[in-house]
Amino acid sequence: MNMAYRFRIYPTREQKNLLAKTFGSCRFLYNQMLSDKIREYEVSKKMLRNTPAMYKKEYPFLKEVDALALANVQLHLEKAYKNFFRDPKSGFPKFKSKHRSRKSYTTNRVNGNVQVEDYRIKLPKLTWIRMKKHRDIPEKYRLKSVTVSMEPSGKYYASLLYEISDCENQTGVDYEDAKILGIDYAMRGMAVFSENIKKEDAGYFRKSEERLAREQRKLSHCEKGSRNYFRQKNRVALCHEKIRNQRRDFLHKLSRRIADEYDVVAVEDIDMKAMSQCMHFGKSVMDNGYGMFRELLEYKLKWEGKEIIRVDRFFPSSKKCCKCGRVKKELKLSDRVYICACGNQMDRDLNAAINIREEARRMLLAG
Ligand SMILES: [Zn+2]
Repeated sequence: MNMAYRFRIYPTREQKNLLAKTFGSCRFLYNQMLSDKIREYEVSKKMLRNTPAMYKKEYPFLKEVDALALANVQLHLEKAYKNFFRDPKSGFPKFKSKHRSRKSYTTNRVNGNVQVEDYRIKLPKLTWIRMKKHRDIPEKYRLKSVTVSMEPSGKYYASLLYEISDCENQTGVDYEDAKILGIDYAMRGMAVFSENIKKEDAGYFRKSEERLAREQRKLSHCEKGSRNYFRQKNRVALCHEKIRNQRRDFLHKLSRRIADEYDVVAVEDIDMKAMSQCMHFGKSVMDNGYGMFRELLEYKLKWEGKEIIRVDRFFPSSKKCCKCGRVKKELKLSDRVYICACGNQMDRDLNAAINIREEARRMLLAG
């Protein structure tokens, strides 16, 4: 099991140059390797096995950056490419664009090439970089990899991935009187809970979203390619970044509160892969963050020796009355309130969340 910590880092001017070179080299290598793979595929329908070493002679600047970063480019590309082979309809992996793609790279820890201290981090080729380490990391955690990124605002971050052994913190859950929370995915407002969970800070990025909409409107009025256009584009990117950070922060706090308070969390077994694809390729900021929320919640629960239970997606969580158990033949998406012949009248998503909780209880007790 892994745990990630994200800290802001403060590279010097020289270090920034090398970081820019590394981001650029990784993107360049990714695109080169991908285009060679595509060419091979068009000729032989096979996957070309190419490695970074094959490119270093022709492009000597690749030798100047962290070799592990380049090795990770290969792994990342091969993963994306294998998905393509599994499902060719999805198309080849996309090329990375200089302006639109995320500026980041990942390096691995081998033989002390990465070191972490209280105020700084040492990365291959870069030596020590100042780092704001606002959380302590238990000594028994083992550092696996570091992802360095630059946000559109020009801020740099290091995301440290640690491995923690699986059996730690396992207390086991007593199912007889486990505190169970049911969660129903909701298009609006992300999720509905079977119990009253305070989401007091849920609205705190609404202001930022309004601001984003305003800046985007302004951008649409700018003449494309003009100096104003680029200035405005940058403002929009900054708004996105702020919302991303606020959302991440909010989801961390919410999942922390739930994982502390409940023994078991029950969710619908919806296709997270399809959802995360929507998240990456759709409107990435305006999406409601449910996928990320579930990931965070799952690892926090596991970390505390607790459980997440997936309720079968064919379980009629929406159509069933949580009071009397009647199942409706039909329920329109527009029916926001569940109304049953037994007199039960409640919010449709709350009714579903309670059903999910009770189905999880049944599954637990049935073993
Ligand atoms: Zn009923």
